[in-house]
Amino acid sequence: MRRILMSISAIGLLCSLAIAQNDKSVKYASTITAQDMRSKLSVLASDDFQGRETGTEGQKKAAEFLAKFYTDLGLTGPVNGSYYQKFNLYQTDWTDVYIKTKKGTQKNGETFVFRGNGDMQKEAKVATVFAGAGDAKDFAGRDLTGKGVIIIPEGNNANDAVGRAKAAGARIVFIASTDDAGFNTRLPRLARFFLKGRMRVEEDRNAEENMLFYITKAMSADLMNSSTAKLDAAMANGTSSSIKEKSVRLMVKKKVNEVATENMMAYLEGTDLKNEVIVISSHYDHIGQNADGTVINNGADDDGSGTTGVMEIAEAFKQAADEGNRPRRSILFLNVTGEEKGLLGSNYYASNPVFPLENTVNNLNIDMIGRVDPDHEKDPNYVYVIGSEKLSSHLKVISEYANITYTGINLDYKYDDPNDTNRFYYRSDHYNFAKHGIPIIFYFNGTHADYHRPTDTIDKIEFELMAKRAQLVFHTAWLLANRDKRTPVDTKDDMTYDRN
Ligand SMILES: [Zn+2]
Repeated sequence: MRRILMSISAIGLLCSLAIAQNDKSVKYASTITAQDMRSKLSVLASDDFQGRETGTEGQKKAAEFLAKFYTDLGLTGPVNGSYYQKFNLYQTDWTDVYIKTKKGTQKNGETFVFRGNGDMQKEAKVATVFAGAGDAKDFAGRDLTGKGVIIIPEGNNANDAVGRAKAAGARIVFIASTDDAGFNTRLPRLARFFLKGRMRVEEDRNAEENMLFYITKAMSADLMNSSTAKLDAAMANGTSSSIKEKSVRLMVKKKVNEVATENMMAYLEGTDLKNEVIVISSHYDHIGQNADGTVINNGADDDGSGTTGVMEIAEAFKQAADEGNRPRRSILFLNVTGEEKGLLGSNYYASNPVFPLENTVNNLNIDMIGRVDPDHEKDPNYVYVIGSEKLSSHLKVISEYANITYTGINLDYKYDDPNDTNRFYYRSDHYNFAKHGIPIIFYFNGTHADYHRPTDTIDKIEFELMAKRAQLVFHTAWLLANRDKRTPVDTKDDMTYDRN
């Protein structure tokens, strides 16, 4: 039923667009060139920017580069005159976690790994028992309330064994390895992963304890003032409870580091509909470099390409405005930080919008438009268009109209399939607008072998194609900015955006 209604309204919309067609946009779209894109991206994706990881010097350099670009272009800084929306992210740090053994104070990440949550005021002294492999028989009849429990689970039984220990009342579970040499080899990688928590927009004040320590079997023997041979024998005989309880001194102190970062944005005021804003976005952060700076993830495609696209589109709109063709609606050019950490910059923006979200009519988000994915090697003139009809049937029609009239790219809607397991609709910054009911389009070239690898470099970028894709975004934005009515949210019954 709705399909028929949609197609009738789509025909009407196409007619009205055809009448209102303003080919001035062609002139300005032609300023978006492969050559200009190459010169901008060669800065953004240079080694000097160190992979632009959120909070690092490289990200700050990229922010400065954007600020200088918008200043030179003469666009307005909308954050009290600035292009920077500065804020802090929060990252939990578990370096103040230790266990005391006979060999001395063992630090988290050096000889063991802590995983979970907790925040002690002072060093704890915890009565600790041995519970063998952590099988049901190891816990039979034992009340371990508030105690530490050492288990040496075999195979894939660790989760079940931890569950049994907790069910028996354990406060802390030590999970000992059956293969200490293997454990010590894996330790540095595990430590990198667990010493610092995920960055968050809000401070994690959850104090609920859940304390797991991954240790060697040798350390468990040390803590029990026993030997690995004795522990093995007790396990083999099913007499784990015969190993005497010992008290273990340890500390779990949660530190929260603040990571200062910034969204970047520039504003072009519209004319008669200037209170309504169209956001054209990309993320300018990426995943950074290794500890000594010898391996850099330049992120040329992800998302140097989208950021370059937003810059070029900003230039085109500014030139139009300077020549008397200012858009009716206002446009916000937004380059967010923290995308690779979990869409944090756009999340922050959506919670602290510089322009009211109820007046934010659309978001066109560009995340990776410089490459060709394996499915399109034979026909590279394509772009994935994602989410264009999720909230507004009109938006997809306008997008198609822009493409048919001006750019002639094959628009691939494969990822709009609700059964697609990639769930790209939820995986870039537009989602933080969509979840507030703002119709969005996400432009994307798909993933490739260099995705999130140091090989995502500028030499692999297809600049002609990238320029054409950015021109499509420009023409679509031009139509959206200049039509009489904003795109209505008319497909709300399809709404799946209030997840998370
Ligand atoms: Zn990425």
